[in-house]
Amino acid sequence: MKSNKTTIHLEPLHPGTSGFYSDLRNLEPGCSHGAFLRFGIDGLKVINTHYGIEYGNMILRKTADCISNHLLPTQQLHHILGDEYIVTDYQSDDVAAAIQLYRRVSHAIEEINIANNYEAMFTISCGIILRRDIEHFSYSNVMNLTEFSLDEAKKRGRNQYYLFEKQDYEKFLRKNALTQELRQSINHNFEGFEAYFQPLIQTKDQKIYGAEALMRYHSSQFGDVSPTEFIPILEETNMIIPAGRWILDRAAAACRDFQTLIPDFKISINLSYVQVLKSYVGSDVIRTVQKYGISPDSLTIELTESGLLETDSHLKKMWTYLKKEGISLALDDFGTGYSNFAYLATLRPDTIKIDREFTCRALHNSYEYQLLALCSSMAHYLRLSICIEGVETAEELSAVRKLSPDYIQGYFFGRPCDYDTFFNTYIKAAV
Ligand code: C2E
Ligand code: CA
Ligand code: CA
Repeated sequence: MKSNKTTIHLEPLHPGTSGFYSDLRNLEPGCSHGAFLRFGIDGLKVINTHYGIEYGNMILRKTADCISNHLLPTQQLHHILGDEYIVTDYQSDDVAAAIQLYRRVSHAIEEINIANNYEAMFTISCGIILRRDIEHFSYSNVMNLTEFSLDEAKKRGRNQYYLFEKQDYEKFLRKNALTQELRQSINHNFEGFEAYFQPLIQTKDQKIYGAEALMRYHSSQFGDVSPTEFIPILEETNMIIPAGRWILDRAAAACRDFQTLIPDFKISINLSYVQVLKSYVGSDVIRTVQKYGISPDSLTIELTESGLLETDSHLKKMWTYLKKEGISLALDDFGTGYSNFAYLATLRPDTIKIDREFTCRALHNSYEYQLLALCSSMAHYLRLSICIEGVETAEELSAVRKLSPDYIQGYFFGRPCDYDTFFNTYIKAAV
């Protein structure tokens, strides 16, 4: 590899007329050739903290050397900020050449780590974008798109490159816009949020036993958004704490209303691990039950294991407190995780809910059917109730009934629906 001692242009914090900024401005307007590689050192902050700024600076210099030593004649290196560099190539669209540069740099850094006996080990990530993929060509857009690409490489586990894909960027923009809209909705009294209810059926007489409250979001920009998309956003941003309080309130209010016609009606709500770990959700639950004057055993808290550690003392405390107060607890999505049995032992739930995925697999595979049958027997042996979720057809129902679950939930008996529909279809009809 040729040793190309290219000068490194330090970019001014506010773009001036030199270096990367002026390079971009001087590009021919019609030109669509070229590529940008944004390199970022992984975990430099930690190295600065543990080994000092001097050491960190030495790593910055070595990284710059590694990159510049491997540049092709058409490539230029710019130091953009802190631990980030941009390599520009205004002539070639050759993705393979861009990837090769990343691989060579990454390999050279690995050699530095080996020579250092892996002390203060560091790696490098890189976002690659072709000039032709940048629709509105401007300094700020190049900065945004290269930053996005580098962030993607880091999000995917660092020490790797990411090649820009338009769909990924569109997803990212949608997520940002949705996050913003969710925030505004919460600030405007949960505008666009709605509580839906799905019937829970008791197997012995196929009568309605209660409902699971499920959050819905009607976005003004995107229409109805699936909970599998917006719940993770609420969790990442902690907005699930106010939103979770809101649905708890709506669910308890609905339960009180439904109990006027079906006195022992039960309502289930889902709790996110974020609520458990970062808020006093136990007291919220008790306060809400008292506010609506419903008995604590009318309410079931459903918890999935995702994101939780069974040893977490917060969770155990909340679980114990709610149990003592008479709230029922269900372990949701049983059969999908990897520590279900640990949870059974430490949390001692009242009910386990078998995930639709597990149910479906069991209906198509005799080994898994046996497994599900054993889960069901075990649950009954431990005096736990079992609820099978996701029953869609009469055939599924008859196969599932052989496992003698206590409760069944699924489209066969009813899809989640709004308050009025639920009241008219299931509550009035039951009396
Ligand atoms: P989940 O708690 O397992 O809820 C059951 C999901 O299965 C619901 O999806 C329901 O509509 C769907 N479902 C029920 N029966 C059937 C069926 O027969 N076939 C099929 N294909 N699906 C069925 P939904 O409403 O889209 O919610 C998805 C997930 O989002 C929920 O899974 C839960 O994890 C989360 N979620 C929904 N509402 C809330 C909430 O208020 N708080 C929290 N923390 N999570 C929620
Ligand atoms: Ca659930
Ligand atoms: Ca579930």
